[in-house]
This record gives sequence, C-alpha cells and structure tokens, in this order.
Amino acid sequence: MKNVQGIAASSGIAIAKAYQLETPDLSFEKKTIDNPQVEIERLEKALDVSKQELEKIKAHTKEQLGDEHAEIFSAHLLVLSDPELINPMKDKINADNVMAETALEETATMFIDMFKSMDNEYMRERAADIHDVTQRVMAHLLGVTFPDPALINEEVIVIAKDLTPSDTAQLNREFVKGFATDIGGRTSHSAIMARSLEIPAVVGTKEITTSVSKDDMVIVDGMEGKVILNPSEEEIASYREKQETFARQKEEWAKLKDEPTFTADGEQVELAANIGTPEDVTGVLNNGGEGVGLYRTEFLYMGKNELPTEDEQFDAYKSVLEQMQGKPVVVRTLDIGGDKELNYLDLPKELNPFLGFRAIRFCLENEDVFRPQLRALLRASVYGNLKIMFPMIATIEEFRKAKAILLDEKEALKNEGKDVSDDIEVGIMVEIPSTAVIAKQFAKEVDFFSVGTNDLIQYTMAADRMNEQVSYLYQPYHPAILNLINNVIEAAHSEDKWVGMCGEMAGEPLAIPILLGLGLDEFSMSATSILPARTQLKDLSKKKLAANKDKILSMGTADEVLEYVNELIN
Ligand code: PEP
Ligand code: MG
Repeated sequence: MKNVQGIAASSGIAIAKAYQLETPDLSFEKKTIDNPQVEIERLEKALDVSKQELEKIKAHTKEQLGDEHAEIFSAHLLVLSDPELINPMKDKINADNVMAETALEETATMFIDMFKSMDNEYMRERAADIHDVTQRVMAHLLGVTFPDPALINEEVIVIAKDLTPSDTAQLNREFVKGFATDIGGRTSHSAIMARSLEIPAVVGTKEITTSVSKDDMVIVDGMEGKVILNPSEEEIASYREKQETFARQKEEWAKLKDEPTFTADGEQVELAANIGTPEDVTGVLNNGGEGVGLYRTEFLYMGKNELPTEDEQFDAYKSVLEQMQGKPVVVRTLDIGGDKELNYLDLPKELNPFLGFRAIRFCLENEDVFRPQLRALLRASVYGNLKIMFPMIATIEEFRKAKAILLDEKEALKNEGKDVSDDIEVGIMVEIPSTAVIAKQFAKEVDFFSVGTNDLIQYTMAADRMNEQVSYLYQPYHPAILNLINNVIEAAHSEDKWVGMCGEMAGEPLAIPILLGLGLDEFSMSATSILPARTQLKDLSKKKLAANKDKILSMGTADEVLEYVNELIN
C-alpha cells in the first residue's frame, strides 16, 4: 500500500484498476523484404484499422461531449486519407524494398520535419497531427496496443502525466471511474473538464505515473486529493463506505435541486454554472443551476482548422439560451491566448503569453474575428436572457471600444431587419488588478462585473497559474485578493450593479462564506459544486459574516484568514 498526495480536482471516490495512459514502445528492427505487395497490404490494413478506430472515437466523443470536441478527430481522419502522405509510403516500399514500418516512419518524419520548419503555427500543428495518427498506424503494424481512453471497456482509473483536453474529452464515463495525473492544478483545463464530466480526479501528484504499476488497484479520493495504491481489504471497505456516504450526501443535495438559494438569515443569492459547450447545459439543469455565469466560447474555436462561422456560433448560443429557458446566460466573448492557443490564426510566439496579445486585446485588433461573434450573439439574444461579457479588460477604453463595436453590429442587424433583444446587459470580467482597483470608475459604465479569480490571483500575486513551482503563491485567500474583490463589490453596489464570480474560487466551501460576507450576488462554478454550495449557504448567516468582513480584510496572511473562517463557520 502507498499513498500519493495531490490536488483534489473533482469530488467523489473511485476504486478500480489502474490504466496507464502512455505511448507504447514503437521501436522496430529494419529489415529488407521480398514481397512489396505484402507490405503494401499490411500498410493498408493498418491504415484501415486506424481509421475505424478514429471514427469510433469521433462518434463516441461527439455523443458524449458534442461536435466541437469531436472535430479534432476529423482532422486526424483527413490525414490518414491524404494521398499526398500515403502514396509516397507505397512508392517507397516498391522502390526501396523496405518494410511498411520503415516506409511509414521515413515518410512521416519527412513531412513532420517539413511542416515543423515552416514559419506558420497552423502548419506546425499539422506536424503534430501527422505524428499522432502515424503513431497509431505504427502500433497496428507492430501489433502493439495503442492506448485509447475512448475505447476502454472495463472499469479503470486512468493514470497519466497530464491529460490534454482531447484526452479528457475521450474518457468514457461508463468505464473511467476516476483519474490521477502528475501535473495540473485545480484551475487546469483537465481539472475543470473532470468536474464537468463528474469524474473523481486528483491532479498534480508529481509522481503517480512512476508509482503505479500495471493492473494495480487504485483508490482516487477526489475530496482529499489522495491516491491510494494497492489498498488493503480494510481500506477498500472503508473507502466503499465513504463512497456510499458521498452518494447519500448527493441524494441529500439533490433535494435542493429546484429550490432557490437562500441563506440562514433569508438573503437570496444566485448559483450559476460555468460551461464550455451547449452539451454542458444538461449538467447545469440536473444540478439545479439558476443560470450560466460563464460560457467559455473558446471551445467553438478550438480543435478545428478554421474559425467557426457566424451561423455555427449562432446555433450554439441559441441552443444554450433555449435550453436555459429564460434563466440568465452570461456569454464571454473569445478569450484566446495565454494557455488557450488557436493554431490556425498563426499568432506570433510570445515570451509571456499570459501577459500578451490575448482575449479582448486580440479581438479589438481583429474585428473580422470579433464582429461575427458579436453578430451571432445579438441574433441569438431573442431566444433567452443573454448577457455579454468581455474578457481581460484592463482599461476603460477597451470596454468602450468593445461596446461600441457591439452597438454598431446591433444597429447593422436592425437595419437588415433582424430581431435583436433590447435588454442585453453588457459587462466585463474583472481579472486584471488595474480593473479591480478602479472598479468604481468602471461601475458607472458596465452593467455587471464577474470576477475571474483564476487570472486575478495569478496577476496580483505574479504567479503563473500553470507553474507548480510558484503554486505556493497562488493564494485565493491572500488578503490582497480579498481586498480587491471587496473593492469590486462595493464599487458595483454603489452604482446599483450586480457582481458575480466565475473563477474557481466561487465554488470553494471556504471561500463561499467570505464572499457571502463581502456581498457577492452571483456565484458561478462547476455544475457539480452548485448543490453542495446551496446546502452550505442554507446554514450561513450573511449578517454575521458581513459583520466580520473588516476583520478579515485587515488580516496579514492567507493562513490567518483561513483559520478565522474555519472558526466562524464551525
Ligand atoms: C478566470 O480567469 O477566473 C476565468 C474564469 O477565466 P479562465 O479560467 O477561462 O481564464
Ligand atoms: Mg481568465
């Protein structure tokens, strides 16, 4: 038995066999051959099987997570059917009398090197596609199993260094009971995905891949952030009990599904959810979400080879608005850059991408990208209660410019005879300290604020949210962060505007009492955190917490804050 500690990324307990998601050894010995036709047939067979697998993965991903997530596999399928890549392999077998493996490897390497050397991010990304798919074909030629999380058909816990969004998208909820990774934090995309898939997960263990062996029994404790390897009978029994308690707890929570959210002293707040695709709305409604507090529209733009059209976007926004049946839906305009890349836009590499040309900065310079999104949103506005939010606003001028473009498109649509709602609130993310500091000035112009703590913390503390080495500085409870949040809330309320929070902090059980005391109006979180939050809020007194606000804000360290809050609520 061994325990590995990591970061609790998604609640729940999972007990199953380990499934190591790693690339297999694809080395082989080169030999000359006598019969090229046999090699060509082997190659064709390996290509066929690979295509069938990719079709299956694509269909499965589409069913589980929707079209956008499945797009990446269409790109992979195109590579495997491209005669410009496949014919040279066959020619090589015929001309040089080499095995299919050699022809595949040499041709793929030639194309990969060629694409990689191009001064174009999109082409460099094609190199990665060719690499991915030809590895699969190679595995089939060598008779080696290629790990396909989408095709897992027994109960497992996936163990990996990291899970990319496309890996996570492929996880089959029926069989993948949990996952544990070496890297990542609570706000990494794999963690956010795990919560939306409702799979217990522990990330950032640093050592799980080296600690686990094939077929080890594993327990993932997504509450404590712990992974237990080869547990004893007693431990399994005790975790089964914990699992049952969690299931019962979930049943308790579920009773509040259709209830509004009230505190013990009768104050109402709104509990909304963060989503990435229209398919996520089912989870929001099943978990009693009172709105969508953040729709990250990046997924519409990711995993494909070109920008989504205005109509494609319109369909997605309309679908979310209709499914939410008049409940508020805050859609954030494109927040690309930082850790979210868009290969086909061929943006220059930057030294500090998180401080670079991203989000609203990019959109204001690229109106040909920005305007179609705004038009799609405006057209969709008549199908529900839409609110539009601009990301990464650092100056009032940026907000004014973005809003002017929005109004310009609204006017244009009206002139075209299209219906547009006249009740669309327009707000901003507060995720840059400059904006939090002068929230009072912003509050006169915006309709609402949503505090993006994931970024606000990294910019305030100057600690990259993806960098494990400085993760000790990534402190949501640091008094600097709390004072900034307080400033934003006071500023908004002085102008009769509302404030939400859509950073991960909004769903943290220890942050909720503080934020309630500061007067936050809307809490937007992973759908699965909503019912626990509603249950918790039922027992909290807003008055009592507000009375302790000044004391908390004047503290010197995050530890003092945490200690005090623990005392207050227990
Ligand atoms: C944030 O920064 O808090 C946020 C919600 O946005 P994202 O995590 O997409 O950067
Ligand atoms: Mg952000």
